[in-house]
Amino acid sequence: MPSSKVTDSPSSAAMLHRSVHHRPHEVVSAKGIYLTLASGQVVIDACGGAAVCCIGHGNEEVLEAVTRQMKTGASYIHSMSYTTPAAEQLAELLIHGPQGGARFGLEKALFVNSGSEAADAAMKLARQYFFEQGQTQRTKFVARKQGFHGSTIGAMNISSNLPRKVPFTCFQKDNVSWVTPAYAYQYSKQGETEEDFTARLLAELDAHFQELGPDTVVAFMAETILGATSGCTTAPAGYFKGVRQICDKYGILLILDEVMCGMGRSGTPFAFEQEGEGVVPDILTVAKGLGGGYSPIAGLLVHKRVVDVLRKHTGSFNHGHTYQAHPVGCAATLRVQQIIQRDGLIKVCAQRGKLLESLLKKTFSDVKLVGDIRGRGLFWGIEFVQDKTTREPFPPQMAIGVRYQSMVFDLGVAVYPGMATVDGTKGDHVLLAPPYNVTEDELRVIVQVMKRAYDKLEKELDMVTPMVQTA
Ligand SMILES: *Cc1c(COP(=O)(O)O)cnc(C)c1O
Repeated sequence: MPSSKVTDSPSSAAMLHRSVHHRPHEVVSAKGIYLTLASGQVVIDACGGAAVCCIGHGNEEVLEAVTRQMKTGASYIHSMSYTTPAAEQLAELLIHGPQGGARFGLEKALFVNSGSEAADAAMKLARQYFFEQGQTQRTKFVARKQGFHGSTIGAMNISSNLPRKVPFTCFQKDNVSWVTPAYAYQYSKQGETEEDFTARLLAELDAHFQELGPDTVVAFMAETILGATSGCTTAPAGYFKGVRQICDKYGILLILDEVMCGMGRSGTPFAFEQEGEGVVPDILTVAKGLGGGYSPIAGLLVHKRVVDVLRKHTGSFNHGHTYQAHPVGCAATLRVQQIIQRDGLIKVCAQRGKLLESLLKKTFSDVKLVGDIRGRGLFWGIEFVQDKTTREPFPPQMAIGVRYQSMVFDLGVAVYPGMATVDGTKGDHVLLAPPYNVTEDELRVIVQVMKRAYDKLEKELDMVTPMVQTA
């Protein structure tokens, strides 16, 4: 995220920021898509932080819902003994609402406080599903390289965001393994068709399950659209259909992580809806667009077949958090989701997404250093390469993604940078995820500013290229 050099500001002294050397920009207020910094600079937040702010900042109706919940006095209750109308209504909307999970057999919602907690809970629930049925030999999880599922130890272990794991290999358990990501731009071979790429990925997954012993595997976990690690990468056609079939063949559960790409961001309520008939997870995790940043909340939507096993055996998920289903968080989130539904914002997201796609493609398809433009809905990534024919990324020490992000930021637009895009060491992208109610004019400004920054970057690189080549 954007940052500036530490000034000896007393307000920064006590806080451990992401870097002890750099202090992030201080935000004093925000409204809609605009952030106002302490410096007076106004920034267009074109990435919603990390694809979080789906209805923009400072929504008065959410403020009112939060205030109302706090005025009841039930700011906190413990979920072991109590529930609240806010939490019940939120679950009801997510499951039985017109855009809810019941359309796909998702039967129950559990609310936790972050995407990482959701990943941990999903893994534990999947394991418990087999444990209760006496299949205690199922202990293994399979995920994908370049997948990110969170930062807690469980979620980190199943993730393959390699730079984030370097100091912590001591925590890694050997019951997790990773297959090739559905990331065509860097992982499909020269001349390979989309169909062939899908077939190769599916054959690899099947063979991998066979190698592990399919009856030792708990679940396959994947982001429906690859998010932060490789930048809005959508799967090739037929991939998730095939994944679902292979999981079914071996009785392995499918956990889809839609923490970043879900809850409308892709232009449909769930990202998996666009992957074809029958593609339904056993457990779905959602988070960022769920509360839209108005509360730290995440959710698990659990398929009936998993709930049925709990019903038949112990009757309870052996898991809990002090703040799960937090009443104020649920009230804020309920209002966010009601607004999205009332204003038809997921449709708006799909429409504006089409415009963003065409603006990005028109502006960047033919430029020298942009190799791929990909995404869905209002979730778009552009990947930088130094050579468009070989798809060779820049040397990591050039930090192109971060450099570009900082140039765009200086011109007043915040985009989300990514590095190690390709394989955990090399590659650069930036990610765009504006609120669903972003205006068409705002989208035009965002892309214009990105182009100005790009031109500047290209010019700078042209000047230093000889040095790089001899370095
Ligand atoms: C952000 C993210 C997470 C982790 O969520 P936190 O709220 O940061 O714990 C998990 N999975 C995906 C796909 C994410 O993008």
